[in-house]
Amino acid sequence: MKKSVAVLGATGSIGKSAMDVLRDQKDRFQPVLITARSDFKGLLELKEEFPSALTALADAAAAEGTRFDFSGGDGLLSAIAAAKADIAVNGISGAAGLKPSVAAINAGSDLALANKETVVMAGRIIFALAKEKNVRVIPVDSEHSALFKLIEAHGKDNVSEIILTASGGPFREYSRETLSRVTVEEALAHPTWDMGPKITVDSATLANKGLEVIEAALLFGLPPEKIKVTVHPQSVVHSMVRLKDGAVYAQMSKPDMRLPIHEALTWPETVCSPFGVLDLTSLSLTFEKPDLEKFPMLALAYRSLSGGENLSIAYNAANEIAVEAFLKEKIQFLEIPRIVEYVLESVDSKASLEPLESIEAILAADREARKMAEDFVWSKK
Ligand code: NAD
Ligand code: MG
Repeated sequence: MKKSVAVLGATGSIGKSAMDVLRDQKDRFQPVLITARSDFKGLLELKEEFPSALTALADAAAAEGTRFDFSGGDGLLSAIAAAKADIAVNGISGAAGLKPSVAAINAGSDLALANKETVVMAGRIIFALAKEKNVRVIPVDSEHSALFKLIEAHGKDNVSEIILTASGGPFREYSRETLSRVTVEEALAHPTWDMGPKITVDSATLANKGLEVIEAALLFGLPPEKIKVTVHPQSVVHSMVRLKDGAVYAQMSKPDMRLPIHEALTWPETVCSPFGVLDLTSLSLTFEKPDLEKFPMLALAYRSLSGGENLSIAYNAANEIAVEAFLKEKIQFLEIPRIVEYVLESVDSKASLEPLESIEAILAADREARKMAEDFVWSKK
């Protein structure tokens, strides 16, 4: 029988890659739900191609006059519940992906998770809920997809540390002076990956790697000191594990998100894929230390991990506000980490170390950190 698949955020970068995987494996997968925020044209095109799939447009205003099956934020959650897919690919960007992840798990769907914010904000609660509902959370983020397989192959008890690779982004070799003047256009030109605007800016500040360090800590249950980052500009090694005996094992493939999506959808099997035959003879691989002075977002992520859960939530929320302000040209590139540091300091000074008990409590902490970041942005105008 075919596996039924929901693609959340089907019109985005991850969503398009997921649809390509479904096109490639028509005999294996059946799309049962496709969703977008406001791109109704993109969603209509997909509906024509996959007429039996349910559709949901999360932006109620954009849905007016259209004939999708569900609309609005609550409509999206109802669509996920109605679809009851075997597996849901969550390719929604930002904190907006959290509730849809919860809805998918509650619907009994396995979760192929690209939306790293789900884990960063609520990893502990999400994994407990997944266990309760007997569903699997399979990472799609390329580094975590690689680590998931490497840890499975070698056994967690044998791993002494994990090493996440980072491309270093477009500004890897810039001086701090030059960094202060970079434009939105320059930040959106990523050297190796073609992704949505938010994560592309995060790759330029290294906030993406910061979020991924937090994601890895929660996903694999590892303390921060066992999570290392190395800059690897070619983006061919997706991550590595170092075992207790000193041996390092790497996972390599072409930088194409269709590969980890294919892996997540076909896991635990290993199925032929047409997307990536790596030509080893064309490669020259290098590894460097990340520069934490030039890219403070990575250091701030480690700092978040050493405090209460509120700090990881605040790190993500403040960064989302700061990136949005940068994309609207309200702030400069180097102000992004300044805003995040300010919010982390404010939250840290009053945060309790008590774990947050519900998704609602997490969303309240998220809103509070956003408000602090917004006030900081506006106080500068
Ligand atoms: P994107 O901006 O290209 O696409 C986002 C998708 O989510 C779109 O379909 C959009 O319509 C939908 N969406 C946005 N806001 C929404 C909301 N409020 N409610 C419902 N739907 C909404 O983003 P992307 O680059 O595909 O990234 C998606 C997620 O995957 C992010 O969490 C990102 O960190 C993660 N990720 C992306 C890549 C990549 O290569 N693009 C790699 C690893 C992880
Ligand atoms: Mg990644």
